[in-house]
Parts: sequence; structure tokens; C-alpha cells
Amino acid sequence: MDNEKLWQTSLGDLEVSLSKANYTTWFKGSFIQEITDGKAIIGVPNNFSREWLKKKFHPQILETLNKLTNNTVLSIDYIVASKNGATSEPENSPLIHKAVDNSATPVNPQNSHRQQIKINDKYTFEHFIVGGGNRMAHAAAEAVADNLGQAYNPLFIYGGVGLGKTHLIQAIAHRVLEKNPQIRIVYTSCEQFTNSFVESLRKGMVSEFKQVYRDVDMLLLDDIQFIAGKETTQEEFFHTFNALHQQNKQIVITSDRIPKAIPTLESRLSSRFEMGLIVDINPPDIETRSAIIKSKCTEKLFNLNDDLVQYIAARITSNIREIEGAVNRLIAHCDLNQIQPTEDVINECLQQFLTGNQQKQVSVGKIIKMVAAYYNISVDNLIGEKRNKELVNPRHIAMHLLRTELRLSYPTIGKEFGGKDHTTIMHACQKMDKELGKDEGLQKEIITIKERLYNVA
Ligand code: ADP
Ligand code: MG
Repeated sequence: MDNEKLWQTSLGDLEVSLSKANYTTWFKGSFIQEITDGKAIIGVPNNFSREWLKKKFHPQILETLNKLTNNTVLSIDYIVASKNGATSEPENSPLIHKAVDNSATPVNPQNSHRQQIKINDKYTFEHFIVGGGNRMAHAAAEAVADNLGQAYNPLFIYGGVGLGKTHLIQAIAHRVLEKNPQIRIVYTSCEQFTNSFVESLRKGMVSEFKQVYRDVDMLLLDDIQFIAGKETTQEEFFHTFNALHQQNKQIVITSDRIPKAIPTLESRLSSRFEMGLIVDINPPDIETRSAIIKSKCTEKLFNLNDDLVQYIAARITSNIREIEGAVNRLIAHCDLNQIQPTEDVINECLQQFLTGNQQKQVSVGKIIKMVAAYYNISVDNLIGEKRNKELVNPRHIAMHLLRTELRLSYPTIGKEFGGKDHTTIMHACQKMDKELGKDEGLQKEIITIKERLYNVA
């Protein structure tokens, strides 16, 4: 593996274990400059990133590199440098995108490619709680993992958002790789599949594309519903499907709905999917929800008595992702404030989850008022022209929040601040993003404002 590829693969690996914010902030624009005699030199765009990688992420980076190079990296030097002499990195480092592209890398049968397919370490069968709602899907997934191409082919798993489809499909990959590390698996999202196909068309590399997807022992395709309306991609997928199916290669597909309900899905594709087994995942029942809450707490060494587990399980019913989010928030809230969980604490802290989506109630006015109140300045001053430091900082924070919480465009935000030009807003937001990456105090301020905004503190 050359250095670029190695670093992309490492980034893919690191991305899975780090929070998105950490990952994007600290690894953007990084690259391996060289590896000689067991010493890797990693270039990063600035001193700050260098310090952070060195102090906070060194063990993880070292471990990842070693995993991928058969333990040949003994030490790492971090230097400030830019790749190809470029002075600044573009908004989205291509490395990050390539790390994602990696999910569909053809896998080299010589190497164990566990690290090469980008799947979440935690999405295993061991971490999957079986209960009402997912029992069938789980059983089918295990059967498929244990009898590739023999049990049900294809296996089509469908269900609503946050119910464990991605977890299950990746669990199949983990199980299969555990048994046979040499096996060639492609795990990809439908979006990724579509993008690589379109790109291969553009670059005249369709045969390479075909090789990636057809030269495998198992194809896992997540979220097929996104293929709706994409005719050429459907055509290509049809052929990929047939090529694999004819050779008894296992195919697993997930979707948020049954094949027939995917608009413009060609009937020949939908009837292909019906050749195998179609199973659904339903929202978890209360026992399953309790079990998930308990396991999440145990994992995080957080004590929550059975009554409170039940209390939450009875109130958060929508999906498992929400439950996880709620438990994480509760744990963080109790840790930060050094308090024990009680019904009151839960009510207060999980309001957003308990009473449905409060996000919608956050408005431009609310954000502006909240920021002004937090910094003890008037709304007029906050949105006005004065350029004192005490006003400029809160102003930038308000702009940042309008962007992140309401996803407003730069011009729209400009209008809220007395008709400022959109480039001014853009620069302010970019500056904030940068600051946020390195200023923990600022991060805390923003978290506090957000908690007030969503009434969770
Ligand atoms: P989907 O792909 O259906 O939208 P995911 O697979 O991403 O849902 O699941 C959302 C989150 O819930 C993930 O963090 C996943 O690990 C967790 N999760 C889902 N189902 C289970 C389960 N049965 N046991 C434990 N965790 C689960
Ligand atoms: Mg998913």
C-alpha cells in the first residue's frame, strides 16, 4: 500500500472511532509524508493540529498504522507541512472523501482487508440486542452470515430510520470476516455506489468499476431506496446483481421500505429482490428498549436503576438511534453537573426527546435573543454595526448557530444582521468553525447556549 492509500485507510479507521467534530477538525489536511526505518512522518497544516495529534491522538494513530502495516511503524513525527506545497486545504479535505470512497475499495485477497472496508467496529452481532421488532431480521442476518449464498439470496432488510439496518448489515460483514479474513466483501451505501458509478462513467473507467463490484464474494448495499430515479445506476446494479447472483455470491440489501414501495424501481429489479428473503425491522418493544438503555449504560459505566430505565423506555419509543442519543445526553448531563439521575433530571434533560422534536421550535428570533441574553448585550447591538470585541464575538456565535441549528444560507443570515453581504457571513462562520476546533472555552459556551435553546439545561 502506498502512503497515500495507507493514510486514507487509517483515516477511515480513525473516523469510525472518533467523533465527527474531532475527526474533521484535527485530521483535515493531514497526510503521510514518508515512512522510513519504522518512522512515519505525518504532515499537518498548522501547529495546533500538530500539538493535538501528538498529545491526544498519538496512541490511536500509532495503533491504526500498525494494524495496517503489520506492526512496522515504531514511531511518528508530526510536522507542519502542506501537501504538494499547497498553502491551505480546501473546505473538505479530499482525504476525508477518499477515506469514505474506500468503503468500496476492491479488496486484495492477499491481505486481510478487515481494515479496508469501512465498517463500524461496534456494529457486530454481539452488540446487537435482539427483541421484538428485530428478531426475524436478526435471525436471517445470522443465517446468511453463516451460510453465504446458501441461506437466502439476496437478503433484503427493510425498516424505518434508526432501527438497526446498518448495524445488522455490518454485523454480517464482521461475522464473515472473523471466519475468513481473506474473503472479499464490498460494503457500500447506495449513494456511494451511485457516485462511483457516475464517476467511472465520467472517467471512462466503467470496467474498473465493474471489477470492484463484481469481483467479490459478498456485496452489502445499504439504503437501496436512494437508487430511486437513477435509471442508469439501476441498470448497472441489475447487471451487478445478476453477475453475483449467478455465482451464488451473497447479496444483502437494506432499504427504508419494501422494494415495491421504492418509486421508479424497475420491476425487474424488484422481482430480483423477491427471489430471496425480505424481512422487516419494526420499532423496538418496551423490553427491547429497556435492554438497549441498560446495555448502553453498562457500556459507559453509568448507574441507572431499573425504575429509571423503565421510565425512559416508556417515554422514548420512536427508534434506537433516539434512545442512544437520549442516554448519551443523560450521561453527559449527569457527569457534567455531578448529579445522580432522577425522574426530574430525566424530564429536564431529555425534554427534547420526550416531547417530540423541539428542534422545530428554535427560530431565528430565539437564537438571537438567547445569544444576546447569554452575553448580556442588547439584541440591537448584537445585530447592529458596532465593531467592539464584546459585540463581534457574540455576533459571530449567533451567525454560527443560525447556520448549524437552522441551516440558513449565508445570504439569509446576512439579512438578519441588517443586510450584511453573504461573504461577510461566510467568513465569520468559517472563522468560528476554526476557533471552535481549538478553543474549548468557546465550545462550552456554545453548548450552554444550545442547551438553553433546546431547554435541556
Ligand atoms: P438504520 O440504519 O436502520 O437507520 P442504525 O443501524 O444506524 O439504523 O442504528 C442506529 C443506532 O442504533 C446505531 O448506533 C446502532 O448501533 C443502534 N442499534 C440499532 N439496533 C440496535 C440493537 N438491536 N441493539 C443495539 N443497538 C442497536
Ligand atoms: Mg442506516
